[in-house]
Amino acid sequence: MDLSGKRLVALTGAGISAESGVPTFRGPGGLWRGRRPEDLATPEAFARDPRLVLDWYEWRRGLIAKCRPNAAQEALSKRGVAVVTQNVDGLHGPDAIELHGNIWRTKPCGCCGRYQRPDVVWFGESLDPAVLRRATEAVGSCDVLLVIGTSGVVQPAAGLVRLARRALVINPDPAAAVPGCDFIRGTACGVVPRLLGLPG
Ligand code: NAD
Repeated sequence: MDLSGKRLVALTGAGISAESGVPTFRGPGGLWRGRRPEDLATPEAFARDPRLVLDWYEWRRGLIAKCRPNAAQEALSKRGVAVVTQNVDGLHGPDAIELHGNIWRTKPCGCCGRYQRPDVVWFGESLDPAVLRRATEAVGSCDVLLVIGTSGVVQPAAGLVRLARRALVINPDPAAAVPGCDFIRGTACGVVPRLLGLPG
């Protein structure tokens, strides 16, 4: 697909950070002490055992601290592609629209106010409406949406694809293809820099 002269926006998920060394939730390394992220990243899990959830986030922050933006993330930044991300790792830099928050920030728990919790959106929680509005506007106004490294199962992020005039899905797993969208099978670092005319 020729992307020259097109207004591009990228919608990214955990897969784009995989080549930086951050495990995806549904791939290898997704489990922690035998628990699924869906059983840790929830208000219920935090209410039940805050220490456990905070320990998990501490472990994740330790892991992410060792990671650097990869060739795909750098290519998006060099080409000035606006990024809407589901990731909380901060690897896209400060200009990204972070739908699910950022693991490096904290805020008081909305339920008890006693604990500082990560400023991220847990499963079952709503997105910040202002952030969702910015994302909706960005996606709705681009010529092509690059959908990179997301399984497309987490809503409402996945639904943003439907707002784009045209979308190109980039993923090594054919199961991530979206009906009506173009699809390139490959990893983010293998595909994105080349697609944007940069060395990988
Ligand atoms: P997911 O774990 O459900 O899916 C990851 C997707 O990335 C899969 O489709 C997989 O095939 C693909 N993938 C794996 N390696 C890839 C590569 N090298 N290049 C391109 N694609 C690759 O992730 P999701 O769809 O983002 O949803 C999970 C939720 O978990 C999101 O809300 C996200 O915020 C959160 N999460 C964030 C991080 C992070 O911040 N880095 C990490 C894990 C999970």
